[in-house]
Amino acid sequence: GLSGRLSEVFKKLKGRGKVKESDIKEVMREVRMALLEADVNYKVAKDFVASVSEKAMGSEVLESLTPAQQIIKIVNDELTELMGSTNARITFSSKIPTIIMMCGLQGAGKTTHCAKLSRYFKQSGKRPLLAACDVYRPAAIQQLQIVGEQAGVPVFEMGQGDPVEIARKAVLHARDYGNDILILDTAGRLHIDEELMDELRRIKEAVQPQEILLVIDAMTGQDAVNVAKSFDETLGIDGTILTKLDGDTRGGAALSVRAVTGKPIKFVGTGEKLDNLEPFYPDRMASRILGMGDVLTLIEKAQSTVDEQKAMEMAKKLKEQNFDMNDLLEQMQQIKQMGSLSQVISMFPGAGKISEEETAAGEAQLKKTEAIINSMTKRERERPAIINPSRKRRIAAGSGTKVEDVNRLLKQFEQMQKMMKMMGSSKFRRAAKRGRL
Ligand code: GDP
Ligand code: MG
Repeated sequence: GLSGRLSEVFKKLKGRGKVKESDIKEVMREVRMALLEADVNYKVAKDFVASVSEKAMGSEVLESLTPAQQIIKIVNDELTELMGSTNARITFSSKIPTIIMMCGLQGAGKTTHCAKLSRYFKQSGKRPLLAACDVYRPAAIQQLQIVGEQAGVPVFEMGQGDPVEIARKAVLHARDYGNDILILDTAGRLHIDEELMDELRRIKEAVQPQEILLVIDAMTGQDAVNVAKSFDETLGIDGTILTKLDGDTRGGAALSVRAVTGKPIKFVGTGEKLDNLEPFYPDRMASRILGMGDVLTLIEKAQSTVDEQKAMEMAKKLKEQNFDMNDLLEQMQQIKQMGSLSQVISMFPGAGKISEEETAAGEAQLKKTEAIINSMTKRERERPAIINPSRKRRIAAGSGTKVEDVNRLLKQFEQMQKMMKMMGSSKFRRAAKRGRL
């Protein structure tokens, strides 16, 4: 994947002293190939590399003692920019209900994400209503009813009637019953066709949705970009939801969809379960693609599951870069409460994406890490720098691991701290401003 490829590239740069222009050219060639292999649109990749090269050629990188970090930072910033810089929110209509129309190809995840979104809004105190406007198979209506029930959200349906009429009636129903958000599940096709587009356009005209969200399967790579482009041109979309980012997906779709359509990714789907939905944060996605983990998402998860006070302390420590191994251990112990292990692991620095099959291995790795940190003294966890070879041997023996394992963990932790130092400050300032910390 992109993250692995880029890590390789940056590994090559790491440890080198000053870089020459020819080094940067070589790295940029690799970055470009990595992007293309990750299914990033050709033109997007080309523009991206040109822009990064220009910045990397600047004296800052050439004269820097840490060129690799400088370049990583530039690549990270550019990736963030490419994906839209800030988190794009759903806009609510001033009159009830706010109508969100979901559209997309068959199997993209529309029905699932209607339910996920409704659950998400319900949790923030809204009273959503789902409407079954995919009428071509009775099973489609039934599916929406099932997921609606799981989300605890009512479903409006009129059987296999006219979807435009159903949408209209659903609006009236929502008003009558005080539902402030109406989410329309619509039909999809295997490929874009005129009939489908015509139907969607008629629904749009009839109810004037506040938001038309295109649901895109991230696993379809380059195709996702074409689909997004053509839905935007023929229907006009306000944003996208990128689904199935939990699978063996290449980062390419996330990168190019926004660049090609100019429309923001608003949410990402990270699994089949209804709570596998996250608002899309370009900066987090960028560091995830770069394989640096996703510390912010981790903190957010922690905040919703663990003691608020503790999470605040943790966030403050991260912000002030005082996050030590005592804190890491504490976080790891809280992990068990944060949903599926595979999701949480994928947010850890250096972990990348993890498939269901790898979860067991991940769990073993976590146990090992926990054992190693447990075998350290409080002082060692505070200042890992004091861990000399004899301490390492003691820790390895105490945790039933090898000195290499201890070394690896120390190195990873050091990288994590560097990464936070490099990108943490501005990110946290922004996050704090948004009231997230
Ligand atoms: P629709 O045809 O667009 O309505 O798609 P569905 O909502 O019926 O989803 C198609 C399939 O994709 C179902 O099996 C879903 O469980 C699955 N699915 C949807 N979203 C996700 C996701 O984010 N991750 C994974 N792994 N599967 C998903
Ligand atoms: Mg469906």
